[in-house]
Amino acid sequence: MQIKDILQLSPESQSVVVKGWVRTKRGQANIVFINLNDGSTIKNIQAVVEDGKIEEEILKKISTGACIAVSGTLVASAGSGQAVEVLAQTIEIYGTADETFPMQPKKHSLEFLREKAHLRFRTNTFGAIFRIRHALAFAVHKFYNDNGFFYLHTPIITASDAEGAGEMFRVSSFEPNAAPKNEDGSVDFSQDFFGRETSLTVSGQLEGELGAMALSKIYTFGPTFRAENSNTTRHLAEFWMIEPEVAFYELEDNMNLAESFVKYVIQYAIDNCKDDLEFLQTRLLEEEKSKPQNERSEQTLLEKLNFVVENSFERLTYTEAIDILLKSKPAQKKQFQYEVGWGIDLQSEHERYLVEKHFKKPVILTNYPKDIKAFYMKQDADGKTVRAMDVLFPGIGEIIGGSQREDNYEKLMTRINEVGIDPDNLWWYLDTRKFGSAPHSGFGLGFERLVLFVTGMGNIRDVIPFPRTPKNAEF
Ligand code: ATP
Ligand code: MN
Repeated sequence: MQIKDILQLSPESQSVVVKGWVRTKRGQANIVFINLNDGSTIKNIQAVVEDGKIEEEILKKISTGACIAVSGTLVASAGSGQAVEVLAQTIEIYGTADETFPMQPKKHSLEFLREKAHLRFRTNTFGAIFRIRHALAFAVHKFYNDNGFFYLHTPIITASDAEGAGEMFRVSSFEPNAAPKNEDGSVDFSQDFFGRETSLTVSGQLEGELGAMALSKIYTFGPTFRAENSNTTRHLAEFWMIEPEVAFYELEDNMNLAESFVKYVIQYAIDNCKDDLEFLQTRLLEEEKSKPQNERSEQTLLEKLNFVVENSFERLTYTEAIDILLKSKPAQKKQFQYEVGWGIDLQSEHERYLVEKHFKKPVILTNYPKDIKAFYMKQDADGKTVRAMDVLFPGIGEIIGGSQREDNYEKLMTRINEVGIDPDNLWWYLDTRKFGSAPHSGFGLGFERLVLFVTGMGNIRDVIPFPRTPKNAEF
């Protein structure tokens, strides 16, 4: 049985075996207390060793980090802080840990723990984060399954470079120094494994659209790769993305789907991760005590999550947002680093002003200028904007990017030529606009940005087990 379940039992001196890793061991004159954790819950179970019950030789080998199995009886706890504890009869040691074990019971910085990513799971903080991450992933599948969507596995290796030119990791089986060359000296990819240039995918959307044009409602949930050299707290080189794609959905339906989806998964975490969220909330409050009053958050973590679930997201167009920004105090006082004007790609500082200062709630911005958005977005009648939608979250900025897709063959071709993409590489994508084209929409949610928001953590490297960032792929 796992510790989570044992802690729920009523103590009747029944026999139990608890297996886990030692968090702390405290000794008094005639009694030793060992706190064990097996990751099933943030709570530890206390094993009590009475004088003489366990050989000194064995007890000596037990210290923080060791893995043991304690057999004994489950009794009501004499101490405060826990309802039940285990009176040890025998202890088996699976693996000892000496004093060089880095996760000693004291405060560690998140930076230190990143360097010990192989062991940081054994802290309360990372245990909580990865249990919440799991619950959110499960909720994603549950939401889409319960709403009639099919989980579609789009390829990780792709030949289409239409979306993220220059930001892709190459996939090749050539030896670095022995790649066959064409006459002009360029690499001859026709001799490579796939007979063409291939890369790791930056998005499953284009293939997802092919699925939606038959199955109507699909979603992907898989790894995504971007070779962008952005060393920020919100970018990873390898991250997980959820991309629903729905036939017959227009922009408005797409916004409704995005809003109800995000609210559902957050509510799922609130309902199923109570202990872990409360732990992270307390951790955050502690952390903020060292900050000046005006930099502390106005809401606790759980207040923030409940606020998002209970309030509707503010919806406005890009053009309306630019007006608000132009009239804003920071624009008037020239406090924005990047100047505001119609046509700019909104910077994080602009997004955060809208979300955190102006509306004080999540915002969905729509109808962006076509020149700053991808070729496949549906063009508006004005010829200037496209049916894009970005969902912006407090503390995060963009959490979702999506759009209604251009379903008109001629308009799509015109746009592809304008932006200089070779249509021959996308013949299969264009075919869907030739054969039974339909209005359709979809979006991409960055899973780690969602986990960041729900856990209240500040750095995206702390919400994925083994982060991949520039110059960092050790574990
Ligand atoms: P940003 O402007 O923040 O770099 P983007 O415009 O490149 O985002 P999209 O291409 O629209 O993002 O990707 C969809 C979603 O994937 C984003 O809304 C975000 O949640 C997430 N995302 C994008 N790039 C990254 C990254 N490098 N690391 C983690 N998540 C990302
Ligand atoms: Mn980006």
